[in-house]
This record gives sequence, structure tokens and C-alpha cells, in this order.
Amino acid sequence: MSLQLDARQRAMLKEMGVRVWLPASAAPATTPVASVEPAPEPARAPAAPAAVPDAPRAVPRAATPPPPEPVVAEASPLQVRALPADIAAMDWDALQQAVAACQACELCNSRKNTVFGVGDRRAQWLVVGEAPGEQEDLQGEPFVGASGELLDNMLKAVGLSRQGQGAAGAYIANVLKCRPPANRNPQLQEVLQCEPYLRRQVELLQPKLILALGRFAVQALLHDSGPAVASQPLGKLRGQIHRYQGVPVIVSYHPAYLLRSPQDKAKAWADLCLAREILHGQDGA
Ligand code: URA
Repeated sequence: MSLQLDARQRAMLKEMGVRVWLPASAAPATTPVASVEPAPEPARAPAAPAAVPDAPRAVPRAATPPPPEPVVAEASPLQVRALPADIAAMDWDALQQAVAACQACELCNSRKNTVFGVGDRRAQWLVVGEAPGEQEDLQGEPFVGASGELLDNMLKAVGLSRQGQGAAGAYIANVLKCRPPANRNPQLQEVLQCEPYLRRQVELLQPKLILALGRFAVQALLHDSGPAVASQPLGKLRGQIHRYQGVPVIVSYHPAYLLRSPQDKAKAWADLCLAREILHGQDGA
């Protein structure tokens, strides 16, 4: 699988830490071909200089293993109240107001703002993350911190942005619209409780493709595919076309995980390329 990239997109990939591989035979042109296979890992930095004589000898550190791949979490009990019954009939504004007023779970007590979503409401891509963090809670917009910067760069590399319109736009939303206190993981009950808001966002947006980032997006979007699917390690769900409300879903790593595990950025790039291929396939392009 290959993709034509211009200089700006190559710069974005460099920013993401994804190395672009050029076939040996290909002359460096203005639109080089990027391999979507994981690029070879860059050589490690040279070892630290030897210790100064007489200084206490440094004990060699064991190499830190990369964090384990995310696995979908188990359920835990949570007190929940009913969501508005008429979500399915709401338009964008009514839905946003319902989210802003939601008191269906305890997260309403600690949030500063609800985080509804951002982007063009005619975008073809829907990107689904996990839950607001501290900055998102303060600003009321998803992915505004460090992982948001990486997400923006990844999207730019495929010609998309949260400010873009229509085919150049990406709508970004989270599974949870409220920040879990102290950035703890969302609980399964919270994910399932909040999912109707996301479902209505999907109905209103009618995206051509959903990019599910991380295990909580998987929990929400693939829950109906059954526990055998939704509980699989994320890595096993990648590279396949799943469905949510009939919309193709591509699973990828959460940007926060990629910041901790940069060796998996090339896989995330492959996921984006697959998503783009599927979307263009729908267009017959
Ligand atoms: N992580 C997410 O999943 N969503 C955000 O909005 C911010 C960080």
C-alpha cells in the first residue's frame, strides 16, 4: 500500500516521528511514496560517555520495556440516572444543550465544562477519543493538550484538520463528555451511559468513516459487536473494518499511548492510510 505525499505532509509525518520510506529505485521527487509498513526503528542515541575516573560507577539501567498494549477494561459498578428519553430526536443544538445539562452520572459533580466535540458538522471523518483531560475540561474542547497536538499532526498528514470543511474536515469527539476526576480511566458503566450522545452525534454527522482511538472508543463503538470483539487487545482489532451504526470503524492507538510508545506511531500511520483507502473506496476514487 502506498500514498503520495507532498512536502507539507512529509513534514507532518516527521513531526509525528513516523519515518517515510522511499524505495531505493525512487528518485526523491516532490510527491514521494510513503510506505505504510512500519519504518525501521531509528538507531538509538549513542551510549552516554564513560564515567569520570573515581566517580561512583553508574549502574547500567535495564532497558525500559514499552508499555503493554491497551486491553479493554472490565465493568465496575456505578450509580447512573436516566439520560433524556428524546436524544434520538435531537438536532445538533438540542444535543449539545442536553450534554451541557447532563447529570446522568457523578462526573457532572467534578467537571468544569462538558466537552461536546469540535469540527465541521459535514465532515466525512469522525475521530473518537476517550474522555476530556484537565485542559479539555477547562477549555471545553477535545484534544487540546499534548496528545491533541499529535492528533492534529496525524490528521494533517492525511490532509484533514478540525478546522477543515467537508472532505478536508474531521469532527473530533470523545466517548465521555465529562472529565473523569484526576484523569482516572473511564468506567465501563460511564462509557455505556454516555454512548447515546455519541450515537446521536454519529446519526447527525453521518460520517463516512470513524477512527476509534484507544480502548475506550473501542468499548463504546464495538460493544454491540459482542464481548469477543470489544474485549480483544487493541492490536488485534487494528487492520480490520468494524462497523458502528453501519459506518466503517478503523481502530487505532490513542495519541496519549503513542506519546509513551513512539515505536507504534508507524502502525498508527498505517491505520490512517487504511482509513483513507476505505473512505476513498466508498467514493469510487
Ligand atoms: N484524550 C482524549 O481521549 N480526549 C481528549 O479530549 C483529550 C485527551
